Amino acid sequence: MGHVNGLKCRECGREYPVDPIYVCEFCFGPLEVAYDYKSIASALSREKIKQRPETLWRYKELLPIDGEPQVGLDSGYTPLVRADRLADVLGVDELYIKDDTVVHPTLSFKDRVVAVALTKAKEFNFDTVACASTGNLAHSVSAHGARAGFDRFIFIPATLEASKITASLVYEPNLIAVDGNYDEVNRLCSEIANKYNWAFVNINIRPFYAEGSKTTGYEIAEQLGWKAPDNIVIPCASGSLLTKVWKALKEFKQIGILSEVKTRIFGAQATGCSPISTAVKAGTDVIRPVKPDTVARSLAIGNPADGFYATQVIRETEGYAEDVSDQEIIDAIKLLARTEGIFAETAGGVTLAVTQKLIRAGKIKRDESTVICITGNGLKTQEALQGHTISPYYIKPGLASFEEALGKIKIATDKEGR
Ligand SMILES: *Cc1c(COP(=O)(O)O)cnc(C)c1O
Repeated sequence: MGHVNGLKCRECGREYPVDPIYVCEFCFGPLEVAYDYKSIASALSREKIKQRPETLWRYKELLPIDGEPQVGLDSGYTPLVRADRLADVLGVDELYIKDDTVVHPTLSFKDRVVAVALTKAKEFNFDTVACASTGNLAHSVSAHGARAGFDRFIFIPATLEASKITASLVYEPNLIAVDGNYDEVNRLCSEIANKYNWAFVNINIRPFYAEGSKTTGYEIAEQLGWKAPDNIVIPCASGSLLTKVWKALKEFKQIGILSEVKTRIFGAQATGCSPISTAVKAGTDVIRPVKPDTVARSLAIGNPADGFYATQVIRETEGYAEDVSDQEIIDAIKLLARTEGIFAETAGGVTLAVTQKLIRAGKIKRDESTVICITGNGLKTQEALQGHTISPYYIKPGLASFEEALGKIKIATDKEGR
């Protein structure tokens, strides 16, 4: 069945059984799932993966479940798009977009982590699931939790985008909108998790939840023809996705699915919430918590749980991190839409704008292969674009009125010399 040995402290290495726990009792380090890679290597091969349905569960031996998948059965295996038009604008030869704006039921990469977390919550026999969310997790736990028959408690900062709140409310969870930022919501949730016997997906189930992010890395390698790219650019909130994409590539190497991994991992943040990129740029692994102030609410974690480990991965792989302004985020969302037809949420704008900055600075080179992770759909953060898009032409329902407008359109296009 499963290939999990147990949980292991990332700091002191002490081992724990598979339980809904997340910190080491001795050193307070975070717990991580430890696998039996020998048995995985004999159970899993490229051929075996290829024969399975195109979902994230095609890598199930590398995920921390004991039985069969129970939640998120349609999540994952999102497209890896070769982005030549965007590559032309950025001045690089080989660019790909890992497009998590589509395929997932709630249109963000959070469906990966929730599929694993809620399957695990079923295995642990919880009836109630909960989360502290910057938006997409609320949406995902509300939806998948409804279908799996869980009672749901969803905690969010009250200032979240209205469209993300509505997208969660439609599934009728118990939605608790807290007068505070994400870090305050998270602190409150840790207290609640100690008192109530609920599966908090990103607190007491976090070691299992976080493993779901690895599927982004497995898919990238498989979709490139079983190859690891030169560079991957990844948005950071808690920093978990970044560390897990790297873990995925290392695991594929360890079990013999990839022969070589020389990928550099790059972190992307908004300047208004950039504890990880600030540390990387200062050459330190000490994360200084900040008070977030950015349009990229899905990334607005001022005290990132995996920030330290993200800086370690960036250093180990000789990558880098950068951050960008709200205006650069908006411009990048529009650039991605008009070149590749992909509408990303603000986190996607962060990732693309940071990629542009890294290319200009020579940190990412023209002749290298680069994958950028676009993690959520723009329909969920439309407010961010208000006042920043072009306008429609308003006309009367008659040909003359249309042709009057067409005259203006011609002038507009002539002016741009197209
Ligand atoms: C949560 C989230 C991230 C980052 O997640 P972490 O693993 O906490 O760093 C990136 N993009 C989107 C759209 C998200 O919702």
